[in-house]
Amino acid sequence: MTTLNFIMFFIYIASAYFTYYHSQKYKSNPYIWTAVGLLVPYAGAIICYLVHRKKKVVDKRPNLFPLGFRRRKPLNMVIALIVYLLFFSTAYAIFSGGSTYSLPQKQDDIKASSTIKSEADSKNTDKTDIEKTQTGKTSLDTVKPESVNRNKTNGNIKISYINVGQADSILIQQNSKNMLIDAGNNGDAQTIVNYLRQQNVSKLDYFIMTHPHEDHIGSADTIIKTFDTAKVYMPEVTTNTKTFSDVISTIKSKGLKITKPVSGSSFKLGDANCMILSPNRSKYDDLNNYSIVIKIVYGSNKFIFEGDAEKISEDEILARGFDISADVIKIGHHGSDSSSSREYISKVKPKYAVISVGKDNDYGHPSASVMERLRAMGIKVYRTDENGTIVCMSDGKNITFNCSPGSYAAASKGGVSGSGGQTSKAKPVPQSSTGQDDRIVYYTPGGHSYHYDRNCSTLKRSKTVKSGKLKDVIKLGKSDPCNICVK
Ligand SMILES: [Zn+2]
Ligand SMILES: [Zn+2]
Repeated sequence: MTTLNFIMFFIYIASAYFTYYHSQKYKSNPYIWTAVGLLVPYAGAIICYLVHRKKKVVDKRPNLFPLGFRRRKPLNMVIALIVYLLFFSTAYAIFSGGSTYSLPQKQDDIKASSTIKSEADSKNTDKTDIEKTQTGKTSLDTVKPESVNRNKTNGNIKISYINVGQADSILIQQNSKNMLIDAGNNGDAQTIVNYLRQQNVSKLDYFIMTHPHEDHIGSADTIIKTFDTAKVYMPEVTTNTKTFSDVISTIKSKGLKITKPVSGSSFKLGDANCMILSPNRSKYDDLNNYSIVIKIVYGSNKFIFEGDAEKISEDEILARGFDISADVIKIGHHGSDSSSSREYISKVKPKYAVISVGKDNDYGHPSASVMERLRAMGIKVYRTDENGTIVCMSDGKNITFNCSPGSYAAASKGGVSGSGGQTSKAKPVPQSSTGQDDRIVYYTPGGHSYHYDRNCSTLKRSKTVKSGKLKDVIKLGKSDPCNICVK
C-alpha cells in the first residue's frame, strides 16, 4: 500500500464511522448510514469513470479515487472530505424528518449520562424556585414568546395543563413546535381552541390521544378540524362510542394516518426528546391501561405524562426498566387510587405533581390515599380544580410555575366505586346514565360498553352476552354507552 492508499482507506473508514455515530445518536438504522458513508465516495469514482469514457480518454480504467481526491492535492482532499461529511449529515437530517442538521447535544440523551450533575442541577432548581416565589416573581414574567422561538438551544419548554375540569388536555411547546396530549370532554372544544389560539398555535406537530375515553378525546374532532395536525398517536384499541367514531371519521376525512405508539421509541419536539413508555401489551381489560405514557426530556429537566394509566401499566413500565425519573409528573387517572402506586411514584421521584381534575366531581378524584402519598413524599401538588390552567416553564435547568402549589385535600365525594376492591375500575359515568342506574343493560365479558338492546347489532357476533343493572355494569368497567342502541 502506498501512503496515498493508506490515507484513502482512513478517509473511507472515518466517513463511515461519522455516519454510524450520528445514526446511533438519533436512534435510526446505523447500517444504512454506514453503507451510505462507504458507497458515496465510490459512486463518485464510478461517475468519474463514466464521464471519462464519454470523453473517450485513452485510459478507461476506473479511477477509484472519488471526486476531490483524484488530483492528489492535500487541500482538495480536505475540502472534499468536508463536502462529503456535510452531504451525509444533511442527507441524514432530511431523511430523519428534521429540516436542518444540528450538532448532537447532551439533552438529546433520554438517559442522562451524568446523573450526578442533573441531581445537582435539580437541587439548584429547588432553591431558585423558592427564591422566585418569595419575591413574587417568576421567570415567566420576563420570557417573551419571540425570544423562545428565535433562540433554539437556549429556549424554553412550556407546558400548559389546560383547565378542562374532570378531563385532560395538555399543550407542550418547544421551539415553535406544538404537541397536544388529549382533548378534554366534548364540551371543552371552545376552551381548548381559545387557549391554543392565545398561544399562537396554528399547527399541531403531534396530537396524542392517550386512550379513547370521552374525557380524553372528547373535543379531538374539533381540534383536528380547527388546527393543521401533522401526526396523530392513538393506542391500538377501539370502542363503540359516538365520541370515538366522530374522532375516527374526522381523522379519515382529513386524510390523516394514526400512528400506533411503540413502547421504548422516541421522537423530537423541537430540542426536547419524547419517549413512549407505554402501552407495553396489546390487550388490557380496562381502556385506561391502553394509555400512552410519555416522558419528555428537555436539558436536565424531565416531565412524565401518565394519561389514565393504572397500576397494571405502571408495573409493566417498571418491569421494562425504563429511566422514569422526572421532575414533574402528570398524575395518572385524575388522582384516582387505581394509579400512582407507591413503587411507581418513588421511582419517578418527582418534585412536582400535576393533577387534572374537576371541582366536586362524582368520581372521588383525587383520592385521599394518593394525596397522602404525595404529601408524605414532600411532592408539591398543582391541581386544575384549585389552580385553573397550570403553566409550567423550563429553560432546561430551572422549572417555574405560573401559580403557587395547591392543597393536599382529597375529594369530598366517595366516588362511583367507593373504596372496595373495584376501585381500579372507577371511571367517569356517561351523562346518559343519570336516572337509569337500575335499568338492565347488556354487555360482553371482553367489551368496554353497555347496551340497552339485547339484540343490538354490535352484540350479534359475541358468543357470551351478560346482563346486569347499569350501576353494577359500570363498576365492571363497561362504562361506554353503545352508540347504536343507547340514546
Ligand atoms: Zn380520564
Ligand atoms: Zn380513562
